[in-house]
Amino acid sequence: MPRITAEERKARRREFAEEAGQAFDQMLGSDGQNGLVTFEQREERACELGDALTRRLLEEHLAADDMADPGVEVACPICGGPVPCEKPEQAEMENRQVRTRRGAVEFERAALRCNRCRRVFFPRG
Ligand SMILES: [Zn+2]
Repeated sequence: MPRITAEERKARRREFAEEAGQAFDQMLGSDGQNGLVTFEQREERACELGDALTRRLLEEHLAADDMADPGVEVACPICGGPVPCEKPEQAEMENRQVRTRRGAVEFERAALRCNRCRRVFFPRG
């Protein structure tokens, strides 16, 4: 089963479209120029707004990833043994931050513990 329902995906799409619309407004303003005069100013604003939307897209995708949710059996990265997580709702979620080419993105991942290695790790994804 996908991590997000079709309905949730539609709602998130609407939110994203709303944000993209706001980015457009921040670029063009009410007069089509919004005080941006030089090419450099226009480029700067467009890149900033585009980067924010890029990060948002990446965060949406990471949040919708099944791997964000334990409940699937994953292999321990140290010993290679199976690490089942039978009670996903009890798994400890941790916020992770990754630097991308377009700035930092944040997402949640379950911290899983391998009983053999006694080490905590995060499934890839
Ligand atoms: Zn292990």
